[in-house]
Amino acid sequence: MNYKNILTEVFEETQEFKHLGESVSYIPELAKVNPNQYGVYLQTIKGESVGLGDYTTPFSIQSISKVFTLAMGFSILGEKLWDRIGVEPSGNRFNSIIQLEIEKGIPRNPLINAGAIVVSDILISHLRNPLKEYLEFVRRLSKCPNIDYNKSIAKSEKDYGYLNAAITNMLKHYGNINNDIDDVLSFYFHQCAIMMNCQQLTQAFLPFANHTEDFSFNTINLTSSQVKRINAIMLTCGFYDESGEFSYRVGLPGKSGVGGGISAICPQEYAVTVWSPRLNKKGNSVLGMKALELLTTKTKLSIF
Ligand code: GLU
Repeated sequence: MNYKNILTEVFEETQEFKHLGESVSYIPELAKVNPNQYGVYLQTIKGESVGLGDYTTPFSIQSISKVFTLAMGFSILGEKLWDRIGVEPSGNRFNSIIQLEIEKGIPRNPLINAGAIVVSDILISHLRNPLKEYLEFVRRLSKCPNIDYNKSIAKSEKDYGYLNAAITNMLKHYGNINNDIDDVLSFYFHQCAIMMNCQQLTQAFLPFANHTEDFSFNTINLTSSQVKRINAIMLTCGFYDESGEFSYRVGLPGKSGVGGGISAICPQEYAVTVWSPRLNKKGNSVLGMKALELLTTKTKLSIF
């Protein structure tokens, strides 16, 4: 497979969609990012790599972080994690609160806000220094020791995080949060506010693509079966209420974030990250969706 040629074609053919969509507006710090940036980086598990456009520019990973915290929570609690969170697609917006009330404080899955907030609570309960250990895990996964939090983005989210605060209060009401609400929210906002570029994210997703190899990063260890299950959750729940659409058009497990990033994996083959801040109405990067759809069409390779 000539990934360099294919990705170059994809990059060129998607340029015409560059001005579609709007960048996120509800987090003021993110609204300041230049919306016309576009980068992509693919790396195969054999080590071949291709990067195009703004692939070395760091951006706010936002909800892509939910895969990393899920890996930590699953490593710590194993199957017991599912006593507090489900594994079903939500079919609702990522920050919806309605379903949470109907289902009495058990979030549908760990990749929507409510589920990730419960995972934050679990990490706070089990780790001595959760923010430090989370950052350390992400640095090891991506083989990049200088990855860090963007404090102004975390603060901006806190200042306007009324809905996430409401979700956390609702979870606490139903007994699914054990720690102080402000501590849980602070961890959650920081986990989303990590800055990474396409290359670093792709590197961090390679261990998910290569699930038959050991997943062992200091204290965070998963069996290949657990990694496979995380991939299954990414496929069914990784794209808000557009997970079915992503599966239909692209056919790869992955996760998006409102910073405009999408990381996806082709199991046993490659990991790829596309970043462009303009989002569609469901909160997914317009160019990210288009580029990945073209990539799996041209390579004739997906999980189906
Ligand atoms: N920090 C964002 C929020 O909680 C994450 C949203 C996202 O990327 O899906 O609203």
